[in-house]
Amino acid sequence: MSTAMGTTSVVSVDERSLFDVAIEQFNIAADIIGLEDHLRARLSTCQREMTVHFPVKMDDGSVQVFEGHRVQHNRMPGPTKGGIRYHQNVTLAEVKALAMFMTWKCAVVGIPYGGAKGGVKVDAKAMSLQELENLTRRFTSELMPIIGPDTDIPAPDVNTNAQTMAWLMDTYSMNVGHAVPGVTTGKPIVLGGSEGRNEATGRGVVYAIEEAARDLDMDLSDARVVVQGFGNVGGIAATLIEQVGAKVIAVSDSSGGIYNPGGLSMKAVHAYKAETGSLRGFPDAEAVSGEELLELDCEILIPSALENSITEDNAPRIKAKLIAEGANGPTTPEADLILHDRGIALLPDIYANAGGVTVSYFEWVQAMQAFPWTEQQVNERLRLIMAKSYVAMRDTSRANNVNFRTGALVRAIERVAEFTRIRGVYP
Ligand code: GLU
Repeated sequence: MSTAMGTTSVVSVDERSLFDVAIEQFNIAADIIGLEDHLRARLSTCQREMTVHFPVKMDDGSVQVFEGHRVQHNRMPGPTKGGIRYHQNVTLAEVKALAMFMTWKCAVVGIPYGGAKGGVKVDAKAMSLQELENLTRRFTSELMPIIGPDTDIPAPDVNTNAQTMAWLMDTYSMNVGHAVPGVTTGKPIVLGGSEGRNEATGRGVVYAIEEAARDLDMDLSDARVVVQGFGNVGGIAATLIEQVGAKVIAVSDSSGGIYNPGGLSMKAVHAYKAETGSLRGFPDAEAVSGEELLELDCEILIPSALENSITEDNAPRIKAKLIAEGANGPTTPEADLILHDRGIALLPDIYANAGGVTVSYFEWVQAMQAFPWTEQQVNERLRLIMAKSYVAMRDTSRANNVNFRTGALVRAIERVAEFTRIRGVYP
């Protein structure tokens, strides 16, 4: 049973933690680079890991204690950056892996941040708005010593959004005594949020797909697309890919999937979800399970839910020709090998979903300069970065005869290693 404390125990198909997976991916790239031992040791560990336990007043008058983490993987390039997620399965190992992915992601798109991530173990969907506000304000207070516009800048992630960031920004600002819009990104526009930030991760996924499709001679107007996860990433990517002419034939959320080989109207699906709260029972579509959805006949698959969706069990049956990882860590290392052998191109999370943190960077720049950009400026600059990063990732992959994930990692680790080397060891 699920409670606010998240007592549901989900047995992972894979005994390894996501951090073990992150280290396996890191080692493959570090071997190719021939990375020195001391840099290997520094970059494969997280610089700062903070775990807090804190009380929250619930609507029924009780007080519950929650566990949260904030991890800063690498503080060399500049402030650290990364989202905060609320989920019943959050663990320190997961947050560490996600912080490491953020370091590589920022390096892949060339923005001056190290990686961080935060998470609270909580079933956010079982909480009221007031309880979520209490939880966010108290968690922010616990993080006060290590976050700030020049040190570590949170953003939305799974089950957090612009409202969460407004509470975080307000709590931080009240504690320091003046408004600090640069302490977070993904804020409401009225508080100094950026035009286009809400859509940026999904938009970046579609820009990434457009780059790859051009390169792989894939005609998007003929393409059938399957999207797993219908939140801020998948829901927006599905709408935007439909707008460039592709046909979205299946989508899913945590209630299951819906499938229509003739194509689903994203407008109708969003309206249905807004009205009923889930995709279940959408008319004009067949119900499919989350597992069946991944194996549907299609050209493009966008996993945008949680980690470990594509494994050695289902990778042999995946029919898509191109996979774009909207989620962080949806594919296991074994599945990566199988997909690569089968000639399926995979745009890895650290490139494919980097549009979110890229526009977060734009938002932070606008906050620091108190000078807003237009949505067109935001989207044009995002497209340029996604296009340039695609070419760099592809060329590094080709030069080393490896898949896109390893190519992107080689590039990212080389970049982080270079400035870590140049800064040297203090004292
Ligand atoms: N949570 C998003 C990610 O995983 C965005 C992070 C940010 O904007 O800082 O990339």
